[in-house]
Amino acid sequence: MNLDFTDEELAFQQDVREFLAEHLPRDIVEDTARNSSVFVEKDLALRWQAILVDKGWAVPQWPAEHGGTEWTPAQKYIFSKECYLAGAPMLIPLGLLMLAPVIMAFGSEAQKQEYLPKILSGEHYWCQGYSEPGAGSDLASLKLRADADGDDYIVNGSKLWTTHAHHADHIFCLVRTDNSGRPQEGISFLLIPMDSPGVSVEPIITMAGDHEVNQVFFDNVRVPQGNRIGEENKGWRYAKYLLEFERGGGFSAPRVQHELERLQAMVDEARDTFADFDGSDEIARKMARIEIDLKALEITELRILSAVSGGGNPGPESSILKLTTTRLEQAINELAVDVLGYRGFAMEPVADGIPYRADFTASVVPRYLNNRAASIFGGSQEVQRNIIAKLVLGL
Ligand SMILES: Cc1cc2nc3c(=O)[nH]c(=O)nc-3n(C[C@H](O)[C@H](O)[C@H](O)COP(=O)(O)OP(=O)(O)OC[C@H]3O[C@@H](n4cnc5c(N)ncnc54)[C@H](O)[C@@H]3O)c2cc1C
Repeated sequence: MNLDFTDEELAFQQDVREFLAEHLPRDIVEDTARNSSVFVEKDLALRWQAILVDKGWAVPQWPAEHGGTEWTPAQKYIFSKECYLAGAPMLIPLGLLMLAPVIMAFGSEAQKQEYLPKILSGEHYWCQGYSEPGAGSDLASLKLRADADGDDYIVNGSKLWTTHAHHADHIFCLVRTDNSGRPQEGISFLLIPMDSPGVSVEPIITMAGDHEVNQVFFDNVRVPQGNRIGEENKGWRYAKYLLEFERGGGFSAPRVQHELERLQAMVDEARDTFADFDGSDEIARKMARIEIDLKALEITELRILSAVSGGGNPGPESSILKLTTTRLEQAINELAVDVLGYRGFAMEPVADGIPYRADFTASVVPRYLNNRAASIFGGSQEVQRNIIAKLVLGL
């Protein structure tokens, strides 16, 4: 694959830089730099999404008929990279990059007309109802029941670890509609408004102190069967399709590169600021290792996403992207904690008694703690290895 950009691509890169310089608000960049969670706050993400929607650049991955850009893979990559390097927040992928491809591939015309514009505008904010108590890696054992009742389903049970359920107005859920055969054969994919009577949300506070995840309860919730995507009992197929986009539907190498650049800035400042700063050779060696692996991730990501641009889905190779991105981001998080050393324990960021730059150090330890969860969410690292062994390597 040729990674040298053409003159047209370089001109496009310049356009993107100019757009970002003019339209990416400073306070959004500052709040994004302070964020230590998987997703930035809803309002922040939606403000940036609205600016991109105005420009027509919010969903480069979507087909043009639904609001996509018809960019080449190289243009999509350039755009994504420039956004991260400028400090823009990641748009929340739950609706835009996870549910939308499923609706486009398997939804009815009426569902496409109903949901896609609202996902794009931010009017609908979605959360993902896959995991349950007792059903995570073994997702097919899920039990949330949806019993047919006339034109509706009656839904009972609960979903666990539901990110941003407390912000969401809709949840896409895997529900059990049949118990008679293999577990995979009795699952359906259902869209449920969060304000339906009988839905309630309980917060779960993580070890980083964040309220990001929740348990969602369904108590005799009535949902029209028209809210089902695709065929009844065929939801497992749609669920796996969505997971490929969750694990590898966007460019993560530019994000890792941005994090590595922030780490470098932090190392430089620590060297100048901390009298007792030691180990910069060791840190430089580890950063060089990350940079080499990052190059490999970048090329793999471009290769896989070239296929997606042709109308395909990322395929099981997306597990390679999820596994590697997580490994590199966690390595960066760990190095950042090493650089801070004992100062990481401080409630207020200080360096040798002097207030230290709060913008990036304040989020170092929370970010490290929060990002431990990346080994688990979206499917654990062990499960990704199993998928790669079976479906990519054919072992
Ligand atoms: C911060 C966070 C956010 C999340 N957000 C969401 C969300 O929005 N929506 C949602 O539906 N879910 C969400 N999840 C849930 C997540 O997808 C599950 O936690 C994950 O799939 C693992 O399931 P589990 O927790 O039941 O662990 P288990 O499946 O019980 O796994 C426990 C351990 O056993 C290992 N293991 C299990 N099976 C195998 C195997 N076959 N081979 C090797 N090792 C194995 C796992 O790797 C793991 O280390 C989130 C999780 C976290 C931590």
